[in-house]
This record gives sequence, C-alpha cells and structure tokens, in this order.
Amino acid sequence: MTSQQHARVARVDTWLANGGVVVASSERAARSVASAFHSTRRVEGLLAWPTPEIFSWEGWLRERWRERNGGGLLLNPLQEQMLWGRVIGKSQTGARLLHPGRLASAAQQAYRLLANYAPGALKSSTRLGWQGDPAVFHEWLNEFESRCRRESLASASLLALQLTEALRTESQDGGSPRRDRPGLLLIGFDRLLETQKDLLNAWGEWQLDVPTEDGPGDDAGASHFFGATDGVTETAACVSWLRDKLRANPEARLLVIAPSLQNRRGELERTLLEASSGDNADLDFEFSLGVPLVHVGVARSALLLMQWLHEPLVEHEVDWLLSSGCCAASDAEEIALAEAMYAVRSRGLERPEWTLDDFAKPLRPELAPPAAFVERMLAARDRLGREPSRQSPFDWAELTRSVLEIAGWPGFRPESSVAFQARQRWEAVLDDCGSLGFDGSLMEWGEFVAATETALGNTIFATESTDSRIQITEPMESAGQLADDIWFLGADEENWPGRGTPNALLPISLQRETGMPHASQQADWELAQDVTRRLLASAGEVVFSFSRQSTSAEMRPSRLITQRLGCPGHLPPDLTNADESQPQLTETFEDASRIRFPHAALGGGAGSLTRQSLCPFQAFGTARLATFQWEPAEPGLNAKQRGQLLHAVLHGVWAGSAQGGISSLDELLSKDLRAFVSEIVDRVMRESFASGRRNSLPSRFPARFLELEAERLTKLVTEWLAYERERLPFVVTGTEVDSEVEVAGLRLRVRLDRVDELANGGKLIIDYKSSSVGPAAWDGERPDDVQLPLYAAFAGGDHLEGLIFARVRPGEAEFRGRVRHATETLRIDLRSQNALVAKPLTDEQLAEWRQNIERLGEEFLAGRAEVDPKDGQNTCGSCHLHAVCRIYEQPVATILAGEDEGADDAKDEGGGDA
Ligand code: SF4
Repeated sequence: MTSQQHARVARVDTWLANGGVVVASSERAARSVASAFHSTRRVEGLLAWPTPEIFSWEGWLRERWRERNGGGLLLNPLQEQMLWGRVIGKSQTGARLLHPGRLASAAQQAYRLLANYAPGALKSSTRLGWQGDPAVFHEWLNEFESRCRRESLASASLLALQLTEALRTESQDGGSPRRDRPGLLLIGFDRLLETQKDLLNAWGEWQLDVPTEDGPGDDAGASHFFGATDGVTETAACVSWLRDKLRANPEARLLVIAPSLQNRRGELERTLLEASSGDNADLDFEFSLGVPLVHVGVARSALLLMQWLHEPLVEHEVDWLLSSGCCAASDAEEIALAEAMYAVRSRGLERPEWTLDDFAKPLRPELAPPAAFVERMLAARDRLGREPSRQSPFDWAELTRSVLEIAGWPGFRPESSVAFQARQRWEAVLDDCGSLGFDGSLMEWGEFVAATETALGNTIFATESTDSRIQITEPMESAGQLADDIWFLGADEENWPGRGTPNALLPISLQRETGMPHASQQADWELAQDVTRRLLASAGEVVFSFSRQSTSAEMRPSRLITQRLGCPGHLPPDLTNADESQPQLTETFEDASRIRFPHAALGGGAGSLTRQSLCPFQAFGTARLATFQWEPAEPGLNAKQRGQLLHAVLHGVWAGSAQGGISSLDELLSKDLRAFVSEIVDRVMRESFASGRRNSLPSRFPARFLELEAERLTKLVTEWLAYERERLPFVVTGTEVDSEVEVAGLRLRVRLDRVDELANGGKLIIDYKSSSVGPAAWDGERPDDVQLPLYAAFAGGDHLEGLIFARVRPGEAEFRGRVRHATETLRIDLRSQNALVAKPLTDEQLAEWRQNIERLGEEFLAGRAEVDPKDGQNTCGSCHLHAVCRIYEQPVATILAGEDEGADDAKDEGGGDA
C-alpha cells in the first residue's frame, strides 16, 4: 500500500471507531472502501467483526429519507420515466410527437439537474420566462409535480432537498443541527454541490476526505506524460507497464483509467489476455464499467423470446437467438436449430423478418426446425394467448417467467457465475417492470415488452468485483479508489476533458450560471482539472499517455495534461519493443509459416486470384478456410439476386433460335425488341420464382412486385439490345461458357458470360456488369479483377480480338474494355479519343497480364496470406473477413494509410461517347 492508502485506511478506521459513518460517492467507491476495511481486519488476524457503517451517497440518502417519510411511494427510475412519458404523451406538444416516450428520459434528467444544481427553478413562477423547448418542459414539470402530489409519489431527484427540509425541521435549537447524529466522512467526491453542502450542514458534523497532492508523505511527483504512435502501441505499453509493476510487487493495486472506455475495452482486454498467456504473468484484471443489460446474452435472449411470441423478429435476431443456446434443450438441438437456419439461407429463402409461425411451420418439411423446439415455442405462445389482452404489469411479469420457462429459457448449459449474476439482474429488472402498475394502470403485452426493453437498455450490468489487482475504469468512476500506481490512457485533446452536450430542455443560460455538467467548455475543463489533481495525488506513479494517430485523424495531446506535466515524451524503450524516438525501420525475415496449397485445382475460379491480388488473406480466408458471408435478407430482391435475373434474361436472349432466342446481329435487327424481350423476361421470371425448383429465388414476393421487376428488366434489356443493334456484324458462339485455365500449375474453372465471333473471325469475350467498373480494374501489379485477363492471357488463343465489360445500366449502356481494332470489329462510330480506340488490346498488354496473374497464382500456391489490403479501407469495406483477419486491431498508420488515393481510378476510365 502507498502511504496515501495507509493514511486513508487509518482515517476510516478511526472515524468508524468513533461512531462515525462513511459515505462514498458511488456504489463502487463504497465497495472499495469496505474492501480495504475488511482486508485490514483480516491482516489483524480477526475472524469476525461488525459490519462497518459504509454507504454510497445514494444508499445513505434513501435510508435517511425513508426514516423520515412514512407515507408515499418513492418512484424507482423506471416508474419515474414511465410517469414522465405519460405526462408528455398527454400534453399538447406530446400529442404531436411520433414517440413521446423517447423524451421521458431527457425530462427525467432535466428534473434531476434542476433539483441538484438549481433548486430555486423548481418553483413554477421562476420559470415563467422560459422560451422554446424549456417552456414546453416547464408545462410538463408542472403536470408531473401535480400528479406526484395527487398520488403521493416521490421522485428520487428530490430526496436530498426533502431530507434537508426534514433535518432542519427536526433541529431543536433554532436551526442548529442536532448533535446526536453520527459524523459523516465523505470519500470520493471530486466536488460537492451546494445542495449537498446544505444537506450535510443540516445533518451536523461532516468532513471531506481528500488526498493531498503536496501533503506529508506524498507519493505524487512520479508522474509522466507519453505520446505513442498509435492506439495499439499505447495499449501495449500500458500492459507492459502493468506487468513490470506486478513483477516488482505482486501485491500492488493498479488502476487503468480511460475516457470513453467502452470504445477501447475490446482492444485493452485482448492485449491483457495475450500478455497473461504469453509469459504466464498473472494479470488479473476487471473492468468497473458495466454494459447495458440488454447486450448481455441471457437478458437479450429473454427479451427476444418475449418479442417473438407476438411479433416478427428481424433475421439477424433470429440467427442470434438460435445460436445463443438460450432456447435450446441440448447440444444436438442447438446444432439442429443452426442447421435449420443454414438450410433456409443456403436455399436463398432468407427473409428480412420471421414470425414464429414462418420459422416453426415452414412449407417445405426439409426446412423444419427440431420438433421439440417447435412444441415448446408454440406452447409458450398458447400460454400467452390465454391471458386477457390488457392486465397489470405485475401479472405480465409473472407470466413472463412462465412463458420463458415453457420456451426452455435459459437453455441447457450449466450456468457460469457471470450468467448467474446476469440472470439475477434480469429478475430484478423484471420485478421493476412489474412495479410499473404502481398507479393501477393496465397495459398490453406489447407495451410490457417495450417497457422491458427500455429497462434493460437503461440497466448497466457489471459483475461483482473480484478485487483484482488491476482495476480498469473511467475518470469519474475512479473517484474514491486509491491505487499504488495509475496509468491514464487516451489523454488527448478530444477526450480529456471530454465533451458532452447540455440538456436541451433547460435554458442554456441557467445551465451555465449554475455550473451544470457540459453547460460550457469551461465547466468541463474545471471538472477535468479537479479529477486530474485528485489522480495525481492518489498514487505513487501516475502515467498519462495518448496516441498520436486515431483511426481517422492525427491527435494532439490534452492541453490540460500538458499544462501540468509539460509536453509528452516518447514512450520509454522498455515499454515498447522499439525506441520510439528513432525512425521505424523495416526488418525483413523469411516467413517459414506459409503452408503451400496442396491441391492442383481450385474451385473458386478466377475470384480466388482476384482476392489474392486485393488482399492475400482474403484469398486464403475464402479459398482455404472456406469462410463465406450470408447475403443480407432484404424486403425486395438483393443486388446479387437482381444480377442473377439479368444474367438469366441475357442468357435467354442469346440462347439461339432452338431455345426461343437469337444468336446474331441479323436476327437481332429482325426482332420487335420490346415484345421479344418481354417474352423472355416472363419466362425467366416464371422459372426463377417457381417454388421447389433448384436455385429458385424466394417465392414470398407479391405478384405486383414481380410484375414491376419484370417491367424493369424488360426496359433495361431492351435498352441494352438497342445499343447492341448499332454494332458491326457478330455471331454469339456461346453464353455461360465454362472453361478451364491453368496458371502456375494451378487449374481454375472460369465461366464467361458470353463469347462472340466478329466479322474478322476474331473472338470477343464479354462480361455483363451493372456497376461502373472499367478496364483499369485489370491493370497494375495488383489488379482489381482478373477474370477476363485470366482467360484472355491463358486461354484466349491466336484469334482473340478483345475483352470487354458490357455495362448494362439504365441510361448508361456502353462497352468498356480492350479491343484490337474497335472501329473495324465493334462499332464504326467510335471516336479516336474513346478508350476502346485510344487504348487497344496489344500482345504486350496480354504478356503483362499473364506475368502479373502468374505471380498471383504462384503466391497463392505458396501460401502467401498476409493481411495486406490493396487499397486500405476501400478494399476492406467490401470484404467479409474483418473478424478473422482482425485488420482493425492492426496499427492504423501502417495498414490503412492512403486509403482514398486513386480509389476511383477503376470506375472513371473508359470511353462512352460512341
Ligand atoms: S478485411 Fe481487409 S485486411 Fe481483412 S481480409 Fe478483407 S481485405 Fe484483407
């Protein structure tokens, strides 16, 4: 323990021994003080001792208020929020709002701010001059207070004020506080509000326990400010420091503080876990910051089950619920549920929303989920259906327990300690929701489910403290905690002092005058200054650090910390693997970890080499780890399905007369285009949406939707064929042509959309595109698309005339690509500046493509799988492997640098003035 810690433990012991009470600023601070008290008793060899009088501020306030108020109901936060929602909903302004309930939380917060910072403004007459939104809030507040008076309800916001009044009334000698009340020692308060001081003065004896920065035995002074190149380096240095500290003193208590901790929680947790497993260092740590209960599996699954019993869930929620294990009766059932969803998705039958009936009773028996699961879910819904449509929240809460049990929640797995704690919290929230009937109101099941969702979102869940050596928290939360040493992450201009927004329902002038949080930058600055002063005084060594580069911008050090500690220095070399003051050097080494691709053929076709070019890990993850991504279900057809339909129609058009299509320019010129295309589109639509057919598209769409889709396709393809009519003579020799190509000893299957034979006997390869891609996609050492160059360079033969993208887009029909003699074989009207003419296909070009593709093939075969996106975020943005390659955990500057440069090259090239 530091001398500061020893001193505080001694002060607390003395205070308690003299009959005093300790009040800490928060629950966590109270637990920290109590934990130190109990440790000291154990060190003294005691086996049992009386429970110390240590409270959190809120807890102490509630207890003292209850002692003095026999009647009336103290509203819990959920009840108060609901009351605000009802007041707002019934007001003139609320009646015009789409979701009046959403303002309830802001109104509740505004009320609390008034009570804490500006109690004078609680008097209605002082608010008469308020304008705009504050004037509307003034009306709501009048109505809220009048309902509380009528129904004997008390808001927790007023406890301090009401207790102050009660204490003053109790005073016997003309206003002086009574002397028989225990003295209060206040711990962990960065500052006291005037309303708190009034209350404490009315109580009697009190004292603020403040560690002093310059006091005797002061450990402060060993403080540093470091700048790291990026967030990953900063976190790694902090973890290194923690490890060194614990090696030097295994009993040390260390505090890591980070503003906006939630944003870097994952990265910090991973780095700590890696360091723990790396060299067996016991870095036991815990986050004091909880997460909203609605994000905790056991609670989220309960909520989703409640919702599914009466309304559809969106598809990703169903996916999550089924794989959570919280509604399965066994391992086998959990797998069978996942397989049922897989069967649905792999047949293209995904849908944006699933009712319980859609999922439990599919039309196709092979898609049915396990019978026992269906039976439980339908039984739970029947149980719900037997209830009256409106009843008290208390009854709904009880019913929720029953239906969840019938549905098999929370699943078959033995409960971990964390899951147990989360379920206990869930039960408490359910009780709170049941208490919403405090005013005798009834509600429907849907309203009760919505209230439960709100309550879960507002409830922060943190597991019980295990008293770990390393505590991780946010600056304000750290009040009351003492540590041997502290590391403060993210001390940059953006985050420290942090910036919040003032409350929109209170006049900004009032907020500034009374010093409400975030009312001005000055107020935030002063509060952060107090916290910084407290931190510097509460540990032996205090390190502040910041990262010079965030994901999107260069960062500057916090001015507040610079003022106290001077400009940030480089991280010391012993906390990094490199000397940050030296320029970074690249060290080359032979990577022995590559595993050669063992097969001679590759199923992924040209796509695998395109991925190898875009990012070697993308090719590895897709072709060798077999990862793939579900297409998101959309209300209409998704982009892939639309593309499938377009290809099917164009395939039908050029299928030759035996198949009802055509195969040459002469035949094209002889057709009534619209009638011809319409007939083919109708046939393709019928076949594509026929249920039971292999690869059929979802059959859930209404007839009118399909008619509109058919109209769209007819228009698009007619427009395209009108463009093709302007071509020089050609004959289509094949569509959807499968071919095998060998690259660097690797056999690849390639499918070509279409191959034409031109007037000079040459071959033209055509790829249909509905995007704006151009031939620049084929260029460079790392091309964006290798499919056509692959075929052209390795299987094109001597008579290859060209390769082109057919851009089939409304109003933008166009060929783009490389053709040897475009004006003689493609279109006579092409101008000299058109890229088809200006940049013809040449043997040199083919040789270059061949060389680049050969190299990509060799790299793929050799097992080259680096995380190396060609174009930073532009490449990663359309890749589904983030979670596997963990790109966003790499140093930003080195991986995603220069992300926007040249991003549109591929899109902008090409002719177009034919
Ligand atoms: S997300 Fe980016 S880095 Fe990761 S595999 Fe895909 S392209 Fe490569």
